[in-house]
Amino acid sequence: MSIQLSPLNDQQLNALASLAGGLNREQLLWINGYFQGLLAATATSQPAIVAAAPKSTKQLKILYGTHTGRSKTLAGKLASTLAGKGIEVATIALDEYKTRQLNAETNLVFIVSTHGEGEPPAMAEDFHSFITGKRAPQLSNLNYSVVALGDKSYKLFCKTGIDIDQSLARLGAKSILPILTLDVDFDEEADRWINEFTNVFADQPSVSSSAGIVQNTISVSSVYTRKNPFKATVIDKVRITGRTSDKEVYHVELSLEGSGITYEPGDSVGILANNPPQLVDAIIAHAGFDRTELVTIKEGTFQLKEALSEHLEITVLNREVIQKYQEKSGNEKLREIVANDQELDKYLYGHDVLDLIEDFSASLSAQDLADVLRGFPARLYSISSSQDAVGEEVHITVATVRYSNKGRNRGGACSTYLADRIEVDSQVSVFIEKNPAFKLPENEETPVILIGAGTGVAPFRSFLQHREANNQKGKTWLFFGERRFNSDFLYQLEWQKLLKDGYLEKIDVAFSRDQEEKIYVQNRLIERQKEVFEWLDNGANIYLCGDMKQMARDVQESLLRIFENQGGMTPEKALEYLKTLKKEKRFQLDVY
Ligand code: NAP
Repeated sequence: MSIQLSPLNDQQLNALASLAGGLNREQLLWINGYFQGLLAATATSQPAIVAAAPKSTKQLKILYGTHTGRSKTLAGKLASTLAGKGIEVATIALDEYKTRQLNAETNLVFIVSTHGEGEPPAMAEDFHSFITGKRAPQLSNLNYSVVALGDKSYKLFCKTGIDIDQSLARLGAKSILPILTLDVDFDEEADRWINEFTNVFADQPSVSSSAGIVQNTISVSSVYTRKNPFKATVIDKVRITGRTSDKEVYHVELSLEGSGITYEPGDSVGILANNPPQLVDAIIAHAGFDRTELVTIKEGTFQLKEALSEHLEITVLNREVIQKYQEKSGNEKLREIVANDQELDKYLYGHDVLDLIEDFSASLSAQDLADVLRGFPARLYSISSSQDAVGEEVHITVATVRYSNKGRNRGGACSTYLADRIEVDSQVSVFIEKNPAFKLPENEETPVILIGAGTGVAPFRSFLQHREANNQKGKTWLFFGERRFNSDFLYQLEWQKLLKDGYLEKIDVAFSRDQEEKIYVQNRLIERQKEVFEWLDNGANIYLCGDMKQMARDVQESLLRIFENQGGMTPEKALEYLKTLKKEKRFQLDVY
């Protein structure tokens, strides 16, 4: 047996041992990545035996603000690519970043998402108001780039990233690459940008940052992704609203057998659906296209029918689609609508691609139409099962979206796909979307208050299954709202069993349409305010899931009233308390 001697001298060995001795696991992982980066950078140009000095002392911090975890994942990807070039890189969550370090920074990348009506994710709120506010310092030594994540269905697409980019430019910082705005389905575009950014940054003359690098390395790996989804077999599909209900809610169970996929309570599952065939056919017929004609889109070349069924969004419109259609068609009537924000908003609501081509005639080719349309993004549903209870399965709870406009019946692309176009034994393409911002407390004894309206109750089934499967008896209190007791009490028997077995301490329900006046979850919270505040005082976490536009706002208003009434707080203090709860991750939201 031969013993390989260390190529380091005693002094180097001692220095290494004393450094390594004081490091935690995250720091060790980072150092590992750092040395791999150095090795990769020296592999082709240096004899393998020579321990090369670092080629560059370049440092860069990636600051991310995320709600669903996608900005964090992207930050991790960029960090590994940069480390591969020998660049010293750190990734830091925006709520952990001290803004007073800003004027000592030289190289920053921001990766930040936008939600709903232009709001930053909770963890980026403070940074966003600092950088856009009066107290932000001049930053003429700073080089930066912004990657903004968003959803083009919303008017204020990527607003948070755009605000940060504009503020940094105003403060004198220099952009390394112009802002990148990413729509929902962004993997390839993001990969291209990461490569471009890495090359541009690596080639820039080196300037060291005087602010200390705080490390927080992220490792991300999953075989099945949006681009490479797993084909899950449907094990069960049951309508869980009664026959008399005016709502159609399905509980769907999918098999993950053999996939190795894992998820945690609070995560979501992405579903790649197909479009309603009647709508696809009607579009082709109205435009007079040949369904077999070939069109080329981002994913490749397909017959028109397949492109419209599987790859392009046709059930909803967005501003960009209407603008592009107007430009291609030159339609004057549509030009007036595009120029008027209110008219455009009105048209966007309840109209689809068939409306667009019916209402604004144009002589477009099939390829022109394909060029105008947006890619078909996956739809995300909060998982309603816990893997500790169901093993290689994932469950979701889906309300079918159906409505009628201009005498034509319409539906949500994915919810009607699940309701009408799949059955038991069908295969559905899925992937898991992690949601680090919606997680049960680490301490299983921490009491939790769960507030869910409609299918917003989904993740709470997962939370409670998890506590039951692991025999965790931390106190739990569920507030559930739906339309009618008789037909819409989703998972009623399961809640009753959990109550009986001691995994659910309390349940309060609000059935909005069982009486003349509306009763919502927030009314129940107010009725129980003394106890709600006591639970909070005793360290409870609050979780809120459901509709973002009305419900989330109204419930938060009610919480503020409770803090004022029960905690003797002024309205300002109550707001501060709510913000602190969010910051400390004691108040978490899953709303869309
Ligand atoms: P829904 O029928 O729209 O609403 C459920 C209940 O909430 C009804 O009783 C409704 O009352 C009531 N409600 C209406 N306005 C309210 C307000 N301002 N405050 C409190 N309660 C209010 O529910 P859904 O169709 O099941 O949709 C649930 C929502 O959750 C959707 O917005 C969905 O995007 C979101 N979400 C779903 C999931 C999931 O995985 N499925 C996950 C996260 C979020 P009335 O209708 O009688 O007024």
